[in-house]
Amino acid sequence: MSVLTPIEARSCLPVVGSDTLVPLVDGRTVPYANLDCAASAPALLAVAERVTATLPLYASVHRGAGYLSQVSTALYEASRQTIGAFVGARTDDVTVVTRNTTDALNLLAGCVPADADGRAGRVLVLDVEHHANLLPWQRSAGGATVLIGADSVAHTLDALRAELARAPYALLALTGASNVTGEYLPVADVVALAHEAGARVVLDGAQLVPHRRFSLAATGVDYIAYSGHKTYAPFGAGALVGRRDWLDAGTPYLAGGGAVRQVDLDSVSWGTAPARHEAGSPNVIGAVALAAACDALAALPAGTLEAHEAFLRERLVSGLESIDGIEVVRAWADAVDPVGVVTFSVVGHDPGLVAAYLSAEHGIGVRDGRFCAHPLLARLGYSAGAVRASVGVGTTHDEVDRLISALEIYLSEGP
Ligand code: PLP
Repeated sequence: MSVLTPIEARSCLPVVGSDTLVPLVDGRTVPYANLDCAASAPALLAVAERVTATLPLYASVHRGAGYLSQVSTALYEASRQTIGAFVGARTDDVTVVTRNTTDALNLLAGCVPADADGRAGRVLVLDVEHHANLLPWQRSAGGATVLIGADSVAHTLDALRAELARAPYALLALTGASNVTGEYLPVADVVALAHEAGARVVLDGAQLVPHRRFSLAATGVDYIAYSGHKTYAPFGAGALVGRRDWLDAGTPYLAGGGAVRQVDLDSVSWGTAPARHEAGSPNVIGAVALAAACDALAALPAGTLEAHEAFLRERLVSGLESIDGIEVVRAWADAVDPVGVVTFSVVGHDPGLVAAYLSAEHGIGVRDGRFCAHPLLARLGYSAGAVRASVGVGTTHDEVDRLISALEIYLSEGP
């Protein structure tokens, strides 16, 4: 049961910087309305507190014998455990601490195995993906097939099923939630049709994990990648969580200290995952921060986050749709319960100018452009880009209302 009634719809966890004042072009200052959480979500106060408490314990991990090295090692490994548990890791899954989602997906792309006949494993993706979940597969050993998404969830599932029956795939790489529309495919259907065809599933969880409770164990998804800086922690740490066999066998992504069992002048014996993929000194504080964010989000009563965001998204979408001259971008007409990421076009207006106006005249932060999803924007007819507003745990309904009234003023008075 949610602690918030939707009508309250105020922030459900305190974030750093929620009272920041920003200057407007006319010299006034106003509270910053951060509607760009999908790009990077502000850190939680709980994260800042844990990082501050951990900094005095700073010491090298794994190979140091000193007391603080032991403490730091314990903190790092406990953080790994939390980061994996937050996405429902199975007992035999591996959690690799990466830099971010991009890093995690590139890592996995180097681990996709060949089939029994030695043919490099091929990956199936949709054209709706963020470039981070497209480009790594295209340059993996077996390459990728990019399927053009249909205009509905039902037809897209049909297209995926047909393609998986037509050719052998090692992996289906799919967005957990689109960073353009917030929409997603039903994960149970995706897993069923991929597994039936003998393919594994990796979810790009960059926009899913901050917005929804997710479990590898409960869904049967094989791998998930996500980013700390989108999950209310600072930049620099993310995760790849999933099945051990590919990660134990795949060529290490980085070569260097910590990833090996034994090195001789002309040979190396690599360790097992996760160490195998974490060469070099790891980002201990980043992992601690991400684990703190996971703890804080996990402590919210079930449904709180979803109720908070559903209320804000509904307010945002209905507000935008009430304004003549604004189009909300959708990929799938029948998508259910998208996350709080909404892209819109102010028809006939340059998205960059709209975003600059919202910042300079109203202190509202949004994003404009093509959101690292060029193929999707092109297919949907927005090659010139669009504007994206996205909400998070610290967003208030007042901030959403400020955006809607700013856009009304923009269209009635001009920039
Ligand atoms: N996937 C999605 C859906 C995203 O929204 C993003 C970032 O915007 C990424 C992947 C890449 O995330 P990162 O830059 O943290 O690697």
